Amino acid sequence: MSGCCVYGCTNRYSTGGLKFYRIPRGPRPFQSNRRRLWLQAIKRVDWNEDIIKNSRVCSAHFISGEASLDSSSPDFVPSVFMYTKQSQNPNAKMDRYHRKRRRADCVGLSCRLLHVLTPEHRWDI
Ligand SMILES: [Zn+2]
Repeated sequence: MSGCCVYGCTNRYSTGGLKFYRIPRGPRPFQSNRRRLWLQAIKRVDWNEDIIKNSRVCSAHFISGEASLDSSSPDFVPSVFMYTKQSQNPNAKMDRYHRKRRRADCVGLSCRLLHVLTPEHRWDI
């Protein structure tokens, strides 16, 4: 990987003015806890050790532009993401999907049958 591993981020090592941080690692609980928080933040909880080793998070994802080792700092974990705004997209997609499904259900005879065969009317025909 030659750039930031955050989904939707196109920053590369060649992009000026950025720092790239390794995903936290180490045997201490402080380190593994921080790693877990980072992976959750970048939505990569399923990553394995090899990917993590080669991945970097750029400084654009930190409020101050720098990662912090202070657990009380908001920059302890990356929190600035491009996809925050787009997170409604999956829902919009789902809505479209449901609308399409309803339309598909209402094609021709099967639609009329479906409406007729509601529980109250089922036995009238
Ligand atoms: Zn980035």
